[in-house]
Amino acid sequence: MGFDESVLICDEVDPILNKILVDNGLKVSYEPTITAEQIQETIGQYNIVIVRSRTKLTKELIEKADNCKIIARVGVGLDNIDEEAAKTKNIRVINAVEGAMNAVAELVLGLMLSLARQTARGDREIRNGNWLKKELKGTELRGKYLGIIGLGNIGKRLGRLARALNMNIIGYDVIPIDEEFSKEVGLLKADLNTLLQSSDYISIHVPLLDSTYHLLDAQKMSTMKKTAKIINTSRGGVVDEDALYDALKNGTLGGAALDVFEKEPATGNKLAELDNVILTPHIGAQTKEAQSLAANVIAEKIIQILRGVI
Ligand code: NAD
Repeated sequence: MGFDESVLICDEVDPILNKILVDNGLKVSYEPTITAEQIQETIGQYNIVIVRSRTKLTKELIEKADNCKIIARVGVGLDNIDEEAAKTKNIRVINAVEGAMNAVAELVLGLMLSLARQTARGDREIRNGNWLKKELKGTELRGKYLGIIGLGNIGKRLGRLARALNMNIIGYDVIPIDEEFSKEVGLLKADLNTLLQSSDYISIHVPLLDSTYHLLDAQKMSTMKKTAKIINTSRGGVVDEDALYDALKNGTLGGAALDVFEKEPATGNKLAELDNVILTPHIGAQTKEAQSLAANVIAEKIIQILRGVI
């Protein structure tokens, strides 16, 4: 059975999404560079609106979405969609939690390895004509303690990958942690303070909420090992960047790798002054596989909702 709903895709998404929707009879407008003003003018015509990260579906835009039944985010976080406004208009908001899980976990692994061996710095110095062989004596991940804050989809995937490198996994979550996962990786469950005091690497995988804003602040950082390294691929704002800058500069923390920032794009961020920091431009889910998986998941969910299955 075909459908005849109209769909607005506002951001660049994997072409498979467009194809599946069109194959099912939906009328798709693919507008990956559409502006907020243009969305405001046209959103009222559409039954389904799809975004990735670029487009912010604000209250003002959603209030104009008079014919919309579904807003879909081809990704995990919903912080670029005003969910309250959507609820008021009776619009379902869906996302694709599965897509990014492996991509983000692999990025964290790469960042940890790069922090341990200072590969980014080595590369930078060679380009500047410097051969820092002696200075760049690294450490190994094997046997080190990895503290994972938030053991949802990404945190668990990371735990499994890091276990394969013989790291010890310490975990903290506000909800009970999956028992099967705990057994599989030999999880050391801990409260947040214990995790922070005992980890060599601390990787954060929580959503940005009022309760997680500056979860790692100056006070918390002061309890960590001097050699500890923080990796944040969750959301900017979960780590206090000013406090992080001070701790890294004063040598009370060993290093950090950030994929997400309080202000993005983070060009001009003062953390870039420091050698013991790796910065990446929010590329956690930027793999072919993750984008294609998320697009497939969203297409499937939309079709199932239109069929009345979910
Ligand atoms: P998830 O919902 O599967 O897991 C989040 C976990 O955090 C849950 O188990 C939850 O109970 C826990 N949590 C919530 N508040 C907490 C707190 N105060 N302390 C400890 N744990 C807490 O989410 P996920 O798919 O694993 O994603 C995690 C984060 O990664 C999200 O912020 C998401 O936006 C972000 N993300 C980033 C990228 C990227 O490109 N860098 C890509 C995808 C997802």
